[in-house]
Amino acid sequence: MTVRDIIKRFTFIEIFQGMALTLRKMFSRAVTIQYPKERRPIAPGFRGQHALAKNPDGKAKCVSCGLCATICPSQCIYVRRKEDGQENYEVDVLRCIFCGFCVEACPYGAIVLTENYEYSGYTKEEIYLTRSKLLANWDKHMAGKKGEEYFRKFWRPMSGDFGTPPAQSGFKGKKE
Ligand code: SF4
Ligand code: SF4
Repeated sequence: MTVRDIIKRFTFIEIFQGMALTLRKMFSRAVTIQYPKERRPIAPGFRGQHALAKNPDGKAKCVSCGLCATICPSQCIYVRRKEDGQENYEVDVLRCIFCGFCVEACPYGAIVLTENYEYSGYTKEEIYLTRSKLLANWDKHMAGKKGEEYFRKFWRPMSGDFGTPPAQSGFKGKKE
């Protein structure tokens, strides 16, 4: 133990330093807010609850190719066909790490992470996202221009960005 440590121990200097800091902070502006009455603006590109995107005609964009489920590092997306032939799409949100890989992988821009962060619940079922909940989330949080703008602004490049340049050679048909 050094002399400095001994002085610190017997003079309680660190306690006084801590108390001085507390006293100073008592008269400065609070950094906390009264949530949920007060809210801070959502950061641009925030990754919140998932939604399945819809076309303007109201149909889901998802074609159930399963790419998002394959790339998901948490393995929390389930894309499967039900016995009645209907496509099913589920996200076990409690396992999601909000990496955004599903959004990047989707070739159709069919899944998005909305700005919604208020989806707590008392049971797992309340938080678990089924296909109908995911589609409803699109209407609730991303409908109209908002979804399109948000999507194109924060999730680039997308499949549409990879068009073949006109000068690039490509298959033109069978040679004579
Ligand atoms: S954000 Fe990441 S962890 Fe969450 S569902 Fe998508 S790929 Fe999986
Ligand atoms: S969200 Fe996209 S990647 Fe996932 S299954 Fe649907 S179309 Fe395929």
